[in-house]
Amino acid sequence: MGPPGVGKGTQAKALVGGNGWAHLSTGELFRGLVQEQSDLGRRVKGYLDAGAYVPDDVTVAMVREWLRKIPRSTRVVFDGFPRTVAQAEALDRLLAEFGRRVGGVVLLDAPRDELFARLSGRAKAQRRTDDTPEVIANRLDVYEQQTRPVVEHYERQGVVRRVDGLGSVGEVTARLRRAADDPAPVDA
Ligand code: AMP
Repeated sequence: MGPPGVGKGTQAKALVGGNGWAHLSTGELFRGLVQEQSDLGRRVKGYLDAGAYVPDDVTVAMVREWLRKIPRSTRVVFDGFPRTVAQAEALDRLLAEFGRRVGGVVLLDAPRDELFARLSGRAKAQRRTDDTPEVIANRLDVYEQQTRPVVEHYERQGVVRRVDGLGSVGEVTARLRRAADDPAPVDA
């Protein structure tokens, strides 16, 4: 977990690279849907362009479909999901349905100024339609309002590891590996 621009996507890819784990990025799945030009894709595009969250029912149904196809023995790194308390509760039900459990939660964090600067840079590099200054500010606000409570939800379960998202990609990956290799027990 972590705010927009903290490097979740880059770091999740580094974490799963070469070890057979699976990487679920709901943002990437949504960007794929938008490319398909379907009715659902057009609906999803409206949320992404505004920096708003896609509704929970759409998001959870998409995650369920994805998870259904992944063998139970495969370790999954969720990147950008769950982002609301309702999604976290739905995830608990999904995991129970598939006989899985949360092994640990890693929170990558960085100050808002840094995030804003990074997202502004990425807007130019990747031409993402959700990286204009207004949309960036909205995405950071939405994160604080809707996703911080999810962090607190997992903190109450004692499963959160905090990782400093400042530094080079390699430095952050090394910190993340240490945190992910030592997941807190679910029933702690
Ligand atoms: P990301 O690539 O993770 O930054 O996600 C890009 C955008 O996809 C977000 O700003 C949301 O509009 C949407 N999105 C990604 N994951 C979720 C989620 N779990 N719930 C709702 N919307 C999401």
